[in-house]
Amino acid sequence: MKHNTNNKSSLQDEEQVKCLIIGSGPAGYSSAIYTARASLSPILYEGTQSGGQLTTTFEIENFPGYPDAITGIKMMENFKKQAQKFGTDVRKGTVTACDLSRQPYKVVIDNKQTIETDTLVICTGATAKYLGLSDEQKYIGRGVSACAVCDGFFYRKKIVAIVGGGDSACEEALYLASIANKVYLIVRKNHLRASQIMQTRVLSNTKIEVYFNTNVIGLFGEEFVEGIHLIKYRGEANEEKIDMTIDGFFLAIGRKPNSEIFRTYISTDSNGYIKTQHGTTKTNLPGVFAAGDVSDPNYQQAITAAGAGCMAAIEVERYLNEMKH
Ligand code: NDP
Repeated sequence: MKHNTNNKSSLQDEEQVKCLIIGSGPAGYSSAIYTARASLSPILYEGTQSGGQLTTTFEIENFPGYPDAITGIKMMENFKKQAQKFGTDVRKGTVTACDLSRQPYKVVIDNKQTIETDTLVICTGATAKYLGLSDEQKYIGRGVSACAVCDGFFYRKKIVAIVGGGDSACEEALYLASIANKVYLIVRKNHLRASQIMQTRVLSNTKIEVYFNTNVIGLFGEEFVEGIHLIKYRGEANEEKIDMTIDGFFLAIGRKPNSEIFRTYISTDSNGYIKTQHGTTKTNLPGVFAAGDVSDPNYQQAITAAGAGCMAAIEVERYLNEMKH
């Protein structure tokens, strides 16, 4: 295949590249840094959330190399700058369709531009889950949010509730406690799933009150959320219904992988996580790799995503070298 790397081909809306990276989280940018340094002239499309999920994280204190912590936004700015420094073409745009039935692979951006690529690195991450309550979507932007760091600001000195028992819920509860007067953490089991350090911080924070064994079954309020309906000890003899008055309702119950657009061609597990061959980022298609949260149901850390992005880049380079022979 004749490459016109990073230059427009004869058709204005078609382009041929060696390496296309989708997603701008730690996986995407790490992959870009490595492939750019290997002179593969990668193009990276940022997707719907420039910088990925970390831009909605307040402080990152567990990424090695930052003993004084760093904000998610600053870290992602640095990732981007580093990728661009080595020549990555970082662009705004989202994949709206693809044809991975034959090589070169075709990927359509924003319904208008088609990119033909020899290798594709899918780093599209994951998106927050909602409970699925009937009026949850109605109140989005009116008191319901899946991002405390984005929306916590609106609840200064107010009362909020957050659902979930994992690290995200604990981290966001602590963040909200630094803004709001009162934070209720609603946990469906009788224990938190979060790491010990986060549990200790949450349980010792006087502004946070944890409701264990409790499920949210509905929301109420006129135009904005004014409260939630809860059931404690559901199905047990001591089952209890509670109406809790709050100003804001946050969700932190995990994420779902952004793999839909590729699922016709790429194998995923039952939850939609892209399957990769053991110890690699290789998918079921030659030259297509997946890295970061979209293919990782287990770790979902910035550092593991960055590591997988690096692996993908090395695998891209090896694949392209093999193609030449
Ligand atoms: P997790 O999957 O770890 O936790 C999800 C939580 O939401 C669980 O407590 C789960 O309950 C609860 N939950 C799920 N569905 C529902 C529901 N329908 N109703 C009520 N509760 C529900 O997701 P996280 O986003 O917290 O974390 C994902 C990964 O990212 C983890 O590996 C985590 O360690 C990591 N992470 C690390 C951070 C850090 O180190 N700074 C920060 C944030 C995340 P149950 O336990 O009952 O299943």
